[in-house]
Amino acid sequence: MVFKRHIAILGSTGSIGTQALDVIAQHPDRFETELLTANNNSKLLIEQAKKFRPNSVVICNKDLYDEVNKELDPLDIKVFAGIESAGELAGGKNVDIVLSAMVGFSGLAPTMAAMRKGKVIALANKETLVAAGSIISKLSGECNSPIIPVDSEHSAIFQCLQGEKTQVEKLLLTASGGPFRELKAADFEHITKEQALKHPNWHMGAKVTIDSATMMNKGLEMMEASWLFNMPAEKIEIIIHPQSIIHSMVQFCDGSIKAQIGAPDMRVPIQYALSYPERIALNTRRISFAEIKQLTFEAPDTDKFHCIALAYKAYKKGGNMPCAMNGANEIAVAAFINDKINFTDIPKVIEGTMEKCTFVPAPQIEDIYATDTEAKKIAGELCGEKLKA
Ligand code: MN
Repeated sequence: MVFKRHIAILGSTGSIGTQALDVIAQHPDRFETELLTANNNSKLLIEQAKKFRPNSVVICNKDLYDEVNKELDPLDIKVFAGIESAGELAGGKNVDIVLSAMVGFSGLAPTMAAMRKGKVIALANKETLVAAGSIISKLSGECNSPIIPVDSEHSAIFQCLQGEKTQVEKLLLTASGGPFRELKAADFEHITKEQALKHPNWHMGAKVTIDSATMMNKGLEMMEASWLFNMPAEKIEIIIHPQSIIHSMVQFCDGSIKAQIGAPDMRVPIQYALSYPERIALNTRRISFAEIKQLTFEAPDTDKFHCIALAYKAYKKGGNMPCAMNGANEIAVAAFINDKINFTDIPKVIEGTMEKCTFVPAPQIEDIYATDTEAKKIAGELCGEKLKA
């Protein structure tokens, strides 16, 4: 008999959440939806709940509770409001796996609540590890709450590590380079939101798509990899691979390199995290090497993509600095999406915030929350100074 897994999705209406539901729909014999949560998208949450019939749903925006409850209560689906409920229900006894797929720092508290109940965490929310890596790593061990990566690069590395018992020499973190890889630095000033939101290979949410355009995404992922695989930054090489066919690689002590390869489709790493350690069928595009003909690689340009340099700076400084950097990035990206600042202002706002934010060398969880608040306030002020005329 096949063991059926009960899934809680934190952030079911986002890009990862909707693709996870597509995976679940392809395997009704394997997965059951236990909990769906959404921030504001009540319409889609209702639609998803009617189709997947979870035990409960959470609408984080309390103003939308009545609307959701009116639709779902008659179907015997329990409806809750507020982000605190999301964490509490994700830790519920019927849940086997929690897919942590909220956007940004807001995913931290509900993910930690589920971890305290010893849940398996399928982690798509990289900001959780960037902001609170030491705390999350410790919690994972203490509460017997394993973290399975969903981010495609980290899933690739995780897959390459299966069955290996020897020392890893190096991780090779691939990056597409985003839409502006070939654009001259002098032209960055004129980048529009529409251009930045068009990723050449991956279908993703707005936040991570802008992060890919600035390449902050790779900085966040370097830190994510460092925490997940217990590797120092010196042993993580970022390599640009514009085709996004190799999703990342691991180099071992004999010089051998293993890669995980496939079409760029987030459903592959999502499904692997949900079915791990098993690998199950998926209806997705198969790649043909004869058609692709060549795969190319180049070193990243950290002068042009200053966000990568800032991420290394934050990593080196340690403590709460990655959290400050992450908070500033969230504000800068939102300001850019809302036409408040230019593309080139994003790294400036982040750097300015990192300089001004109070440094805490060994942050506890309260310090992390305080840092996020402080960094976001500073970044907001810096965005105001750069306000487009
Ligand atoms: Mn990624």
